[in-house]
Amino acid sequence: MPSPAGVGSAAAVDRLLEWFDTDGADFPWRRTRDRYAVLVAEVQLQATQAARVVPFYREWMRRWPTVEALAGASLGEVLRVWQGLGYPRRARHLHDAARRIVAEGWPAPERLTDLPGVGTYTAAALRCFADEEAVIPVDTNVARIMARRFPDGWPGTPDGRGWAVGQALMDLGRLHCTARAPSCDSGCPLRDRCPAADSGTVAEVTPKLRPQGRYQGSLRQRRGLLLAALADAGRVAVDQDPDAAASLVQDGLAVRRDDDLVPVP
Ligand code: SF4
Repeated sequence: MPSPAGVGSAAAVDRLLEWFDTDGADFPWRRTRDRYAVLVAEVQLQATQAARVVPFYREWMRRWPTVEALAGASLGEVLRVWQGLGYPRRARHLHDAARRIVAEGWPAPERLTDLPGVGTYTAAALRCFADEEAVIPVDTNVARIMARRFPDGWPGTPDGRGWAVGQALMDLGRLHCTARAPSCDSGCPLRDRCPAADSGTVAEVTPKLRPQGRYQGSLRQRRGLLLAALADAGRVAVDQDPDAAASLVQDGLAVRRDDDLVPVP
C-alpha cells in the first residue's frame, strides 16, 4: 500500500504534467529530438538564462544545422559566434565534441560523458530531451524542487512522459519553485500537499549554493573583455592584460603572436 504521501506525490506528477501540457514554454530546442541540436541547447543553457539563449541558439543552428557542419567550422569562427554568451570554453568543448562525434560516432548512452564538456547533467539531458528516456536531468533547479516537493524521492515517471517530465521540472524551477522567491501561494501547480510549503521550511530544505565570486574585476570578466576586443580588432596587445591573455592562450581560446594576441585560426 503506498503511503498517503506517496499517493500525493504521484498525483503531483500528474498535476505537473497537466500544467506543462497547458503552460509549458515553447523554446526552439523543444521542437526537436535531434541529439546534436539538444546538445547545442544544453551547452548554451549551462550558464545562461533560457530567454537569452534563444537568439544565440537560432543563429548557431542556422549556421551549423548539423554536427558535421559544426565539425567543419574553424574554432576561430565558432568562438566569434559564441561572443556574448560567456564562458567561451563551452564553445571550444562543443566544437571538440562535434569533431569527435563525426570521427567516431555518438558514444553509447552510458558513455556520453566521454564527450568533451559533457558532464553527468548534460548526458542525462541528452538521454531525456533527445532520446526521450525516463531519465531526469538534475541541475540545481531540479535538485531544489526534489528537496522541497519530493523529499521522499521521485514517485515515478508515467510511461512515455520522460521528456515532458524533464522539461516540466525545468519550467517549474524557472517560473515557480525558484531559489529566492518561490511562488508557493501564487500559482505553483504543486502547492497542494507540498511538504516544504506546508511545514514552512522552504528555505531550510533548499540546498545551499556555493557562493559565487564577484564578477566585477574577476579574471572571468577580464577574459571576456579581452576576447571581445579581439573579436572587434582582430589583434590586441598582450600588455593590455597579461594574466587574462595567458589564461586565454592556455585554454586554446586565443593565440599569442609576438607581443599580441590573435584569434585562433
Ligand atoms: S509550493 Fe513552493 S516549495 Fe512547493 S513546489 Fe511549489 S514553489 Fe516549490
